[in-house]
Amino acid sequence: MSSHSSAPSFTSSIDGWIIKGFLDDRSAIFKKLSTLGFTRNAIIDRARELGLSDQFIKKCSVGNHDVAMRACLGCNERFLSMGVGNRLCPRCRNRR
Ligand SMILES: [Zn+2]
Repeated sequence: MSSHSSAPSFTSSIDGWIIKGFLDDRSAIFKKLSTLGFTRNAIIDRARELGLSDQFIKKCSVGNHDVAMRACLGCNERFLSMGVGNRLCPRCRNRR
């Protein structure tokens, strides 16, 4: 049996903090979320799940991006979007 039942769950506002934190001050977001009961590994896993790869973060560091979770215009799934003009998730983009 796993003992994950006591772990807090990731809400959309926490996802937003993780996105901002990984693009800006990563240690600050680890500290902030650890007070809520999230472990460093859980935060890193969640960031990967959201699509915050090193490659993505590097891309975002160039230019002025407004990164947030947005609903895909193709399938309505929420995904990590680099700006208001980026409204197709990677899956739908590859399908074109
Ligand atoms: Zn999609």
